[in-house]
Amino acid sequence: STALLWFRRDLRLADLPALVSAAERASRVLALYVLDDALLKPAGKPRQAFLYGCLEALADSLDGRLMLVHGDPVRDVPRVARAVGAGSVHVSTDTGPYGSRRDRAVAEALGEIDWVECGSPYAVTPGRVTKPDGEPYRVFSAFYRAWCRHGWRAPAPHSTVDWIEPEKPFRLPEKPDLGSMALPRPGEAAAHEVWEEFLDGGLDGYATNRDRPDRPATTRLSPYLRWGCLHPRTLLADLDTRHGKDVESLRSELAWREFYADVLHHRPETARKNYDERFDELEYDTDRESFDRWRAGRTGYPIVDAGMRQLLAEGWMHNRVRMIVASFLVKDLHQPWWLGARHFMNHLVDGDLASNQLNWQWVAGTGTDPAPFFRVFNPTTQGEKFDPDGAYVRKYVPELCEIPGKAVHQPWKLPRPPKDYPAPMVDHAQERKVALDRFNAIT
Ligand code: FAD
Repeated sequence: STALLWFRRDLRLADLPALVSAAERASRVLALYVLDDALLKPAGKPRQAFLYGCLEALADSLDGRLMLVHGDPVRDVPRVARAVGAGSVHVSTDTGPYGSRRDRAVAEALGEIDWVECGSPYAVTPGRVTKPDGEPYRVFSAFYRAWCRHGWRAPAPHSTVDWIEPEKPFRLPEKPDLGSMALPRPGEAAAHEVWEEFLDGGLDGYATNRDRPDRPATTRLSPYLRWGCLHPRTLLADLDTRHGKDVESLRSELAWREFYADVLHHRPETARKNYDERFDELEYDTDRESFDRWRAGRTGYPIVDAGMRQLLAEGWMHNRVRMIVASFLVKDLHQPWWLGARHFMNHLVDGDLASNQLNWQWVAGTGTDPAPFFRVFNPTTQGEKFDPDGAYVRKYVPELCEIPGKAVHQPWKLPRPPKDYPAPMVDHAQERKVALDRFNAIT
């Protein structure tokens, strides 16, 4: 008997329930990936390049036996399944807005061939953790307690099958040109190495250091989790054997990812629209010049500029700095969060619709459980607090590399400010007031 294993956001072989279910049904399995323009086009070059690298790594671990089709899953998955005589198609559940729509259409087009969903990219599949009355959680802390109580399965056992040789050898389209941008090493083996190294050296102190962009204090696993090179269940199983505040802190960060997937599952329109509809009335600015200066890292606020340049240089940005730059766009430049979210999605290697859009909404104050709108991040004090010696700024803003210590966060105060670095494009105190006035006008 033959089955088809359709890979999507689960580019790995370990801890893969869909593989276990395929192996239970069939001895011969065809591994398939469909390059779908509906997902590829908005992905941006860094995420596309990382995806291609992960596909290459997966194909290598299957000795090349990964079939790659560039096309439309609704047409091509049933076509390939019929061509190999598969009795079933196995996938990890996709609960995102596009993925769930696509999967319903594919399952229908499969007709007599079984559609088998098993596992998801989350420790607890979105939609499973609800309040006792069946309503979804709106507040993270309550979700987190319920999510911990719900618990998660142990990692799935390893399955061996006879992989079917695809008709055409595995060949990727040309990789996008990233210029000098260096991406993390793609694939399952790299993901495990990064995690093991972190467990050995980085976990101690995570809770205290995770807010410090000047220290290599976080896991850097987000791109691997995005593409499923390793599963959060694997991480949680390792964390469950340990104790202490660092373990708690990392478990709760992983739960934010699950919370936002849950929110998007229940309210798919929040990928584009304010979760809190009162904000639909808020007055926004949309002038292109301000947006372009933010995007290029030329705002004159060093921590903002360092973050925006880190994004362009690495396709990644530290979480604390993501919050600072997002707040600056929304509260200092009064631009709509979705413009910033789109820019992030174009550049982030870990760009993930649920985590990105709903974090943006959190910062903008329009989302679930948001930072209150009136709590506006001050880019200077944030810089001084979380990059106290200025090392992060100096790394990404070479115009400021001669300024020692925390003075780098206020170059405009120096007797001779660097000529090639802009003065602050807005006055933070003044713009904070404008933001609050606009907020008060709608509440
Ligand atoms: P660690 O601190 O090591 O955390 C471990 C894992 O927990 C992360 O890999 C991630 O999967 C999860 N996690 C941590 N913090 C969050 C969070 N606040 N929300 C959701 N999951 C979290 N993360 C993405 O994966 N994709 C995005 O597109 C994305 N966009 C963001 C946009 C904004 C405006 C903000 C403020 C945050 C965004 N994040 C996003 C969340 C967070 O910044 C990144 O997950 C984190 O910086 C990744 O680095 P790390 O793996 O070293 O994190």
